[in-house]
Amino acid sequence: MPSVKKIYVTRKIPESGLNLLRKKKYEIDISEKDGVLTKDELINELKRKPYDGVLCLLTDNITSEIYDAVGTAKVFANYAVGFNNIDVAEAKKRGITITNTPGVLTDTVAEHTFALLIAIATRLVAADRFVRDGKYIGWAPELMLGNDLKGKVLGILGAGRIGSRVAYHASRGFDMQIAYYDIAPNKDFEKECGAKYYSSPDELLAISDFVSVHVPLLDSTKHLINKERLSKMKRTAYLVNTSRGPVIDEKALFEALRDGVIRGAALDVFENEPKVYPGLEKLDNVILTPHIASATIETRSKMAEIAALNLIAYFDGKTPPNVVQ
Ligand code: NAD
Repeated sequence: MPSVKKIYVTRKIPESGLNLLRKKKYEIDISEKDGVLTKDELINELKRKPYDGVLCLLTDNITSEIYDAVGTAKVFANYAVGFNNIDVAEAKKRGITITNTPGVLTDTVAEHTFALLIAIATRLVAADRFVRDGKYIGWAPELMLGNDLKGKVLGILGAGRIGSRVAYHASRGFDMQIAYYDIAPNKDFEKECGAKYYSSPDELLAISDFVSVHVPLLDSTKHLINKERLSKMKRTAYLVNTSRGPVIDEKALFEALRDGVIRGAALDVFENEPKVYPGLEKLDNVILTPHIASATIETRSKMAEIAALNLIAYFDGKTPPNVVQ
């Protein structure tokens, strides 16, 4: 009789994923805290039982200390496509399998990115605030002028799953011209979206009217957008980030927005989440959303199912569909 698999879930996720685990008759413990467990809290929880696997979130830092706390767990299923919260190299050394949830959230994140792009170009959020504040006293020819998307150059930083989907919407739906920078050119993407490859981010930033960031957070992408690169952008340009906060130097971005170095920005992610660089919230030329680019009912449920299916495959002795290398 095989032993019952014990799984620790670091925070309540949608039922659809938990039900898949329950169907397998795994023993599941879910954190009861309404919030992110601190490192010490997580270690204490994991020490309670000889767990076989952990379902964790992007807000959990999975490092050696965590692996030490639960030496029996040989699989960690991340409830996210990004896995910069996990020490994958250390996991490899210890023979621990790490999985993520790619693909299933591509459309949703691309749609949120597009919502931000349109909203910042049309000053949607500032305009809403303007009306609510009772400032709308009559139509005027130059009231709250924004910018069109049609015909403009959209620069994609990182033309992977999400970046190329954003570009698809932009080229097919809005007649935008697509330019991109990636570590490797992608001929299929170029054909599909008429995209032009730039071999350096500097060149891309200099010619783009809108820049959308979709690279993963790595040592090589931390502060990819810094003060110097912001100064290379058009003064009329807009920057959108739905990847990871530390890809942009948030202090430099705040100063650039305050001083008119670029026209506007829309951010779903922040350098020190959940904190936002002080002062950003006072600027009217920035839109801030709380890391919700994948937060639709449909997608969050599918993410839970994929994270569960990765665990199930592992415990069934198969290679999980989404192993992180
Ligand atoms: P992906 O792996 O398909 O695409 C990433 C692209 O970036 C690849 O084409 C890769 O070649 C490129 N890249 C890697 N390093 C680079 C570098 N140094 N310079 C230029 N390009 C580089 O990933 P994806 O599914 O499109 O997701 C992208 C990122 O979006 C994730 O890593 C995650 O951090 C973020 N994300 C955020 C949310 C959110 O809620 N805001 C949701 C999902 C994903």
